[in-house]
Amino acid sequence: MDKQTRYKSAILTRLEELGLRARHIEEDLGVPKPRDFSDQAIDIEDDEVLEGLGHAAEAEIATLRQALERIRTGTYGICLKCEKPISGTRLTAVPTALLCKDCAGAGPH
Ligand SMILES: [Zn+2]
Repeated sequence: MDKQTRYKSAILTRLEELGLRARHIEEDLGVPKPRDFSDQAIDIEDDEVLEGLGHAAEAEIATLRQALERIRTGTYGICLKCEKPISGTRLTAVPTALLCKDCAGAGPH
């Protein structure tokens, strides 16, 4: 298996995990609320936490899909800013990295 296949497999595995989690959250939010007021208040707080997780997962899913698109178009592992190859160490740690270590550490400018 070449390196790019390994990164792709890591991305797909992560997508699957997030997909399953996202579906689980949706099912959990679909449960009818209990009638009791105090229970209801607790439940609303829980829903907010779950929705927060859902949005974070959605953002990560978008990033993972973008990485897959870059693999497809042959731009995966190339820094968006300086166009140098991103190190294998960095891609192994962060398969969705869009910038090399130097550019990512350089800040917004
Ligand atoms: Zn760079």
